[in-house]
Amino acid sequence: MQLSIFDLFKIGIGPSSSHTVGPMWAMFRFLKCLSVEGHLDELDRVEVHLYGSLALTGKGHGTDKAVVLGLSGCRPDRVLPEEAQAIVEQVQSTGRLALASCAIDFNPDSEIFFHNDEVLSRHPNGLCAIAYAGSHQLVRREYFSVGGGFIVEEDKVEAVALDASGSKVPYPFTTAKQLLDTCQQHSLSISQLMLGNELAIQGNEQTVFQLLDRIWEVMESSIERGCSLEGTLPGGLGIRRRAHRLAEELKAKPEAALRDPLTAMDWVSLYALAVNEENAAGGRVVTAPTNGAAGVIPAVLAYYMRFMHGANQQGMRDFLATAAAIGMLYKHNASISAAEVGCQGEIGVACSMAAGALAAVMGGSCEQVENAAEIGMEHNLGMTCDPIGGLVQVPCIERNTMGAIKAINAARLALRGDGQHRVALDSVIETMRQTGIDMQSKYKETSQGGLAVNVVEC
Ligand code: SF4
Repeated sequence: MQLSIFDLFKIGIGPSSSHTVGPMWAMFRFLKCLSVEGHLDELDRVEVHLYGSLALTGKGHGTDKAVVLGLSGCRPDRVLPEEAQAIVEQVQSTGRLALASCAIDFNPDSEIFFHNDEVLSRHPNGLCAIAYAGSHQLVRREYFSVGGGFIVEEDKVEAVALDASGSKVPYPFTTAKQLLDTCQQHSLSISQLMLGNELAIQGNEQTVFQLLDRIWEVMESSIERGCSLEGTLPGGLGIRRRAHRLAEELKAKPEAALRDPLTAMDWVSLYALAVNEENAAGGRVVTAPTNGAAGVIPAVLAYYMRFMHGANQQGMRDFLATAAAIGMLYKHNASISAAEVGCQGEIGVACSMAAGALAAVMGGSCEQVENAAEIGMEHNLGMTCDPIGGLVQVPCIERNTMGAIKAINAARLALRGDGQHRVALDSVIETMRQTGIDMQSKYKETSQGGLAVNVVEC
C-alpha cells in the first residue's frame, strides 16, 4: 500500500518515534481492543512487557511514560506535552490508571517489565500487553514499533500508520527508478506526483494543503520554542540547552553575516539544535521521519524559507512532498528504525530526504533530486546508534546539525551536475539495508556500544 506524506511527517511528542510515539500508539490500540471486545468492565490488571531495544533504552527514551499515556487514551498527535507530564505524574503518585470508563491499580515500576536480554523474533522493538481479570488472562497482544512511529500488530503483515486510508493512488512507486520513470512518463515533478497521490488519499486539495501547512507550522513552533528556552535537559546527563544562547548571539550580531558568509550555517545548526532540544525535553515535534532526526528537515526547510531568494509557501509544500517521496523509498526498501539499521536509518534518511527536497525547490530536475538524495545517504552509510545513557541527547542533538549541513551540501553538489551519476539512489538504499543487517546489535539503539560505553555519565 502506498504511504501518505503524513505517514512520514507525523505530529508527535519527544523524545523518540520508535520508543515513545510507537509504543504510545500501540497502547492506545490495546485500549481500543479492550473496549471493542468488551473487557473494560471486567479487567483489574494490565501488564506490559518491553523487549530488545525497547527494554535497553526504554527508560531514557520515555517508553514507560508512553505506555502509561497510551493506556490512558492519549494519542501522540493530540496530547499536549504539559498534559502528558501531568498524567504520568498522577499515575505515579496515585498508583491508579484511568482506562476509558474504568480505573485500575497500576504501578509503572511493577507492571512494566524491561526484558533486557530477550528479543522477540519479528523485530528488535517488541512489546506485549496483557489484561487480566483476577488470574484469568483476558487479552494478550504483541506489537512492534518499527521506526518513525509506525507499529505492526502481531497478526498483521504490514506496518501502517494508525490513520492510513488504504486508498488507491494514481502514481504508485516503490523504487527510485519507478518514481523517476513515472515522473518522466507523465511529465511531472516529484512533488507534483506526490501531491497527485495525496489528493487520492485525502480526497481534496484543500485538505492536503492544510495538512502540509500544519506540518510546517509545528516545525516552526518547535524551532521557536527551542530557541526560547534555557536550562538543563531532563534525564540526568546534565546537558544544557544551547539553542537559546546561540540564537541570542546570532540575533545580536547581524553584521557578522557580512564578514562571514558561512554565518548561514550557524543559523541552520541553530534550527536543528532547537528542534532536537525540544524533542529531548519531551516537547512537540514533527517526526521527520523519526524523532531522533526530527531537526534535520525543519532546519533545511527553514534555511530555504528564510535564506533563499524566491522562497514561498508553494515551495515549502513542494519541499515536504519531495522529502516524503524519498522517505517512502527508505521505509519500503530498507528501514527507518535505528534498532534495525543504526543511525543511518534516522539521521542518514533525514539527510537524504532534505537533500533531495532542497535540490527540488532550488530548481533541480528529477534526476538531480535523486542524485542529491543519493549523496545525502552515501556519506552517512554505516553510522551507528549509540546514545549515551539511552537518552536522545548525545550524540543525537548535535548530529542533527551535521545532517542538515550535509543535506545542503549534497543538494548543491547535485545541482552543480547534470543529474548523471554513478551510484543510483536505489543502490545506496540497498547498501544501507545490508550495512544495517551486518552492523553489530550493540550499535543499534541499545546503548551497549560506541559513545554510550566510552563516555562516563556524570
Ligand atoms: S544516535 Fe541517531 S539513531 Fe540513535 S537515538 Fe540518536 S539520533 Fe536516533
